Amino acid sequence: MTTSVPHLVRTQDNAFWFEAAAEGRLAVQRCSACETLRHPPAPACPECHSFEWDSVDAPLHGTLHSWTVVHHPKDGSLAYPLAVGLVDLETGTRLVADFEEGTDVDALRIDAPVDIVFGEHAHAEILPRLRLSGGRS
Ligand SMILES: [Zn+2]
Repeated sequence: MTTSVPHLVRTQDNAFWFEAAAEGRLAVQRCSACETLRHPPAPACPECHSFEWDSVDAPLHGTLHSWTVVHHPKDGSLAYPLAVGLVDLETGTRLVADFEEGTDVDALRIDAPVDIVFGEHAHAEILPRLRLSGGRS
């Protein structure tokens, strides 16, 4: 497989997120001082500026806030048409992820319920994928 997708860049602030994804969990960073949840991971809390944090696991479902369908540029590691969704989670945070291969892009609707599943991405990384709830298994 030829891919131009860059390798993930793991840091001390985001490694927990990728490790959770590899275990099939969707982690959300939580400020230890004020308990504000945030995603994507960042060194400091945007509310109180604390550098102390831990994480909680989000439920593996949400609602589709928006999406786009990518047709170009084509990459050998991805299947097209590639739908990329922005999902509202119960944690109040949002997740951007690809819909799984074979998704009917014409069936996507704002506020549609989606499940978070996990799949292999470029370079054998395991990342969240989106699946319309009630869709194929
Ligand atoms: Zn805080």
